[in-house]
Amino acid sequence: MAMDDTRSFFYSSWSDRLRHSAIILLAAALSLSVVVVLGELAAARAAAIFACIAAAALVPWRLHNTAASREEARGANPVESAAVAAVVAGMPDPAVLLDRAGRVIHLNAAAAQLAPALRKNELAQFALRSPEIITALREAIATTEPRRATYLDHVPVDRWMELEIIPVPVPTAFGGTDKCMLMTFHDQTPMRRVEEMRADFVANASHELRTPLAALSGFIDTLQGPARDDARARERFLGIMHAQATRMARLIDDLLSLSRVELSAHVRPDTLVDIVPIVRQVVDGLEPLARERQVEVEVDLPETPAWIAGDREELLRVFENLVENALKYGASGGKVIVSLAAATSGEGQPELRVQVRDFGPGIAPEHLPRLTERFYRVDVGDSRAQGGTGLGLSLVKHIVNRHRGRLLIESVPRNGAAFTACFPQAKPPAAS
Ligand code: ADP
Repeated sequence: MAMDDTRSFFYSSWSDRLRHSAIILLAAALSLSVVVVLGELAAARAAAIFACIAAAALVPWRLHNTAASREEARGANPVESAAVAAVVAGMPDPAVLLDRAGRVIHLNAAAAQLAPALRKNELAQFALRSPEIITALREAIATTEPRRATYLDHVPVDRWMELEIIPVPVPTAFGGTDKCMLMTFHDQTPMRRVEEMRADFVANASHELRTPLAALSGFIDTLQGPARDDARARERFLGIMHAQATRMARLIDDLLSLSRVELSAHVRPDTLVDIVPIVRQVVDGLEPLARERQVEVEVDLPETPAWIAGDREELLRVFENLVENALKYGASGGKVIVSLAAATSGEGQPELRVQVRDFGPGIAPEHLPRLTERFYRVDVGDSRAQGGTGLGLSLVKHIVNRHRGRLLIESVPRNGAAFTACFPQAKPPAAS
């Protein structure tokens, strides 16, 4: 305890220690003056005694310096205080406190996990190794100005971190301050991924629009030039141009629908709708396509209404896309089954499941997780030939998500595919 007190005195601030010594000296000066004034002591003797007391009052300062140099000799870092360690440990992002040489003084658990090579009392430059980071650190130390760098991590997955080095004056155990470097890592991976997706999306969308546009302008040139007087060629080219223009219109429609659904993704539809007539309307509407593709559509719907909280137009788009895909890509199976059944979700909630099952070529397992990505197609040529945009299933997934539902995709190659849209079941409306 006594030792702790002495230590705390040595490590107390300069102003505290100054106050201690000043009080001792003031008290000694006052009592000696009183004794001299009373004639009990000669002034010279009093001065000598004061000098002794002054020396005694200054001893702790010397002791302090000795203690400090002893600590330094032992290699302890002067800013290794529990408070500084606690602040670094409590930072939410990976954080490392370095001394002026770039040696690690403190690092939190997140930093240790991110860069396991970082060790206390070792140079961060050796652990991080990147020339960009080493330069930034050297510059921050030399200029005492903040610097930024990029930290890339590839294991176990690609991660982009922005590294910020900020010079911070940290109070030392001996009363002064030490210029340290606070290095923090900010995870930029989600923003980077969104940025990549945005760039991919723009590139894909413009490519998809440019293809039919190029075909249209090519046919226009031909019709104005070599095929000007060829009635049969004109008929054929106009047919192709019509198909290309329809595809462009469909692509723009899908893009607009997708962005509309995305904008309202956080708002769950709240109108009660019966999905039985919606599914029936879609099947009826696609009857001409089924006939053209020689596919028999089997419908298995309940006699009673099936209520969900939904948006009628959006649900029409969901079932249209699923049935149309089954008729286009699964036509070779000759049969499509559209069914609606009540079931229970994984969380034990009642749900309604609309399943569209075909008996066509099916989809290889490696494609299944990516089918709902925008513009993802198993066979781009086949999709284009069918007038597809590659946005249908992405739109389906977004709409189902907005309805707080799930889209299940199952397929056995060469034995067809089943797309199931699951929606939380709603209570029937109260009879009016
Ligand atoms: P598309 O406009 O190309 O039809 P979708 O997003 O609707 O775009 O579908 C993406 C891809 O998924 C299609 O290009 C096709 O390769 C595949 N696909 C969708 N439905 C089926 C199905 N029933 N059978 C086989 N493949 C399918």
